[in-house]
Amino acid sequence: MARNVISTDVALVGAGIMSATLGTLIRKLEPSWSVSVFEALDAAAAESSDPWNNAGTGHSALCELNYTPQAADGSVDIAKAITINEQFQVSRQFWAYAVDAGVLDTPSEFINPIPHASFVHGADNVEYLRKRYEALSSQTLFEGMEFFTDPATFSERLPIMAAGRNFADPVAVNWYEGGTDVDFGSLTKKLINFVGKGGAVHFGTRVTNLKRTKDGWRLTVKNQRTHEVTHVDARFVFVGAGGGALPLLQKSGIKEAKGFGGFPVSGQFFRCNNPELIENHAAKVYGKAAVGAPRCRCHTSTPASSTVTRACSSARTPASRRSSSRRVSTRTSRCL
Ligand SMILES: Cc1cc2nc3c(=O)[nH]c(=O)nc-3n(C[C@H](O)[C@H](O)[C@H](O)COP(=O)(O)OP(=O)(O)OC[C@H]3O[C@@H](n4cnc5c(N)ncnc54)[C@H](O)[C@@H]3O)c2cc1C
Repeated sequence: MARNVISTDVALVGAGIMSATLGTLIRKLEPSWSVSVFEALDAAAAESSDPWNNAGTGHSALCELNYTPQAADGSVDIAKAITINEQFQVSRQFWAYAVDAGVLDTPSEFINPIPHASFVHGADNVEYLRKRYEALSSQTLFEGMEFFTDPATFSERLPIMAAGRNFADPVAVNWYEGGTDVDFGSLTKKLINFVGKGGAVHFGTRVTNLKRTKDGWRLTVKNQRTHEVTHVDARFVFVGAGGGALPLLQKSGIKEAKGFGGFPVSGQFFRCNNPELIENHAAKVYGKAAVGAPRCRCHTSTPASSTVTRACSSARTPASRRSSSRRVSTRTSRCL
């Protein structure tokens, strides 16, 4: 039985990147509104937005081949890639604005440059990547993209991937120097801090129910330690609960939640702490999943598809590795 009732203009369920972003926008656009965040865990960004739980790619369709499917006639459709890249530019503009506005500090703590590369092997795939390059490189957003197939360039740019490779099997790479690595965990924490300064962030508090009322919504929240139950009356609710969103949306009774189902998905991350390997790999490389490989939306590596290699752990990558003008990631912290 709930003893307390909290009133707020906006209730945000979950403290991941989605609630953090929306909360920041609301605080800037409607500074007089009260904003309350309810997070089941004891910290922000402890689920999918945690840096060890995603690939940290600023999805911009520079390297992710799922955004440039090949049609039956062999042509490459770049429409989705352009949309995704445009969306990422909007995100970057928002983060740049947030830095200028003092909402975010120290950009290098959440975004760093790293080349994005798409890698394929086999003659058909090489041809696909050539067509992708021809279609994308003429677009303003993809200007400067490179395409190479020669083993010498491949070995210079991707020495670890070249080592021991039999180049009788042709390879090709689309290379884009201006890719990014995004630490969504750090970004989320910074944004949640900002949201919390003008509002309230309730950690260890799970939203267990939400119902429409005549003025908005009533949430039932439960303190995970004391088990105390509280009601929250809010004019607006945002369910940014990641994997926990669907059950709540279904409880809300909104028609948009009908007809959806969820199932658990797991992945396996490989981290590399070998300084020698870290020194020698300074790119985010996505590949093309083999036919029959499990689908993976984010192209994180799975043993079956081996679609991603990624710069790895802990050390700072030397910016001088290839040339002094080449920018490389200074936060290369995982190996997928
Ligand atoms: C393996 C993998 C790789 C990925 N790689 C990338 C990538 O490279 N680039 C990219 O852009 N995206 C990537 N993503 C996707 C990205 O990580 C997610 O889309 C994003 O983090 C989701 O953010 P969110 O705020 O919606 O959810 P989350 O970060 O999961 O936050 C949801 C929060 O809600 C809380 N919560 C849940 N239920 C309740 C409840 N009832 N009450 C209160 N709190 C609740 C959870 O504890 C959690 O903290 C990847 C995802 C995965 C799984």
